[in-house]
Amino acid sequence: MKQEKKIYDAIVVGAGPSGCTAAHYLVAENMDILLLDKSMFPRHKPCAGGITMKTLKHLPIDIDHLVQHTAKKMKFSFDNKKTVSLQHNTGSCVMVIRDEFDNFFFEETLKKKVGFKKINKVSSIDKKEDFLELDIDGQRYFTKFLIGADGANSSIRKLTENTRHNHPVSAYEGIVDMESKDEAVTEFIFNDSGYAWIFPKSDHLNVGIGNLISNDRTKKRNKDDLYDFVRERFNGKDIKNITAFPIGTEGIKYRSRDNIFLVGDSAGLAETLLGEGIYNAVLSGKYAAKSIIEACAKKSDANEIYNKFLEKLTTELSIYQKGSKLLYGFPRISYYAMKLWLGEKFMKGYSEGKSLSEIIGKQKSVIN
Ligand SMILES: Cc1cc2nc3c(=O)[nH]c(=O)nc-3n(C[C@H](O)[C@H](O)[C@H](O)COP(=O)(O)OP(=O)(O)OC[C@H]3O[C@@H](n4cnc5c(N)ncnc54)[C@H](O)[C@@H]3O)c2cc1C
Repeated sequence: MKQEKKIYDAIVVGAGPSGCTAAHYLVAENMDILLLDKSMFPRHKPCAGGITMKTLKHLPIDIDHLVQHTAKKMKFSFDNKKTVSLQHNTGSCVMVIRDEFDNFFFEETLKKKVGFKKINKVSSIDKKEDFLELDIDGQRYFTKFLIGADGANSSIRKLTENTRHNHPVSAYEGIVDMESKDEAVTEFIFNDSGYAWIFPKSDHLNVGIGNLISNDRTKKRNKDDLYDFVRERFNGKDIKNITAFPIGTEGIKYRSRDNIFLVGDSAGLAETLLGEGIYNAVLSGKYAAKSIIEACAKKSDANEIYNKFLEKLTTELSIYQKGSKLLYGFPRISYYAMKLWLGEKFMKGYSEGKSLSEIIGKQKSVIN
């Protein structure tokens, strides 16, 4: 007997924060979803695990029990000389262990009756009249909508987009012992080759370096730079468990088509000022899902709806880009701007869960 072919409402490739967010919102509307990842969970994801207050507004799960520290005290250093210290009772972000966060999010997603399969490779995506046909590990899968949530090296982006991400920026992170809780200040250190961070957790510090500007003049940073930074900053201390990964930042012009939606780092939606990517991963996962839900209800084009969201996000990302040029190109000016006025404004805004557009009063690009 000939078997009917199953057509999913949506296939989501990648079960990180963007993919799990999309799956959560879709399954809440009774959509038939298949979630795929090349890894089994728990798995490691190189990340400092700072989740801003604005992210919590859109996150479909409660992560209170995973919070190891709240960034109420922050310090920004410029060329290791001039520093700006800031404080807020609420705190600008919560600190989690990224692997724990991802594993919990994944498990909560499966509890919502989202089907999951570990895969090796999506080899092809063909557009048919009413659905998409995918070759995954030699088997055919059919879906009305496809969400590419497979991170900065996205296979879905490479299979469906002509535009290449040619200037990947990346970051290294590892673990440094914490001597005492007095060290519990969240720090960013800026210099002309990029930025470093010190993020307190309950019993250690996550320390890392990154480079968010990619041009010929800027030296690419490597593992040795992180060892050097830690030895110098912590009087000869060592750092362990170093891992690195690219951050997807080149998606400012990305728009969706053919019912294929890239989200999070796969689309290149991380910001270029401090390398925050979880917020836009969650936000874009949510909006890709909402676009599909709305289009199905109104029999309209989901791509058009998602692209309206991306237009607003583009405006916000371009503000980050301008800020990044100023921060890394003119550290002296940035220091005075932070010290005299911007620092307080940002600390307050971030702690109140505001987006950058909300903080600077750019109403047109505010996404609710
Ligand atoms: C060192 C470092 C520190 C960072 N610190 C922070 C921070 O403190 N705060 C913050 O907001 N952002 C931070 N970021 C950025 C943040 O990690 C990313 O922006 C965020 O993880 C993007 O989420 P995502 O769901 O889009 O992708 P990812 O989290 O990368 O998830 C992608 C998923 O897809 C899976 N996958 C990959 N390839 C395939 C494939 N071919 N087929 C199937 N599945 C696949 C992966 O296994 C993974 O589960 C940091 C990044 C780095 C590198």
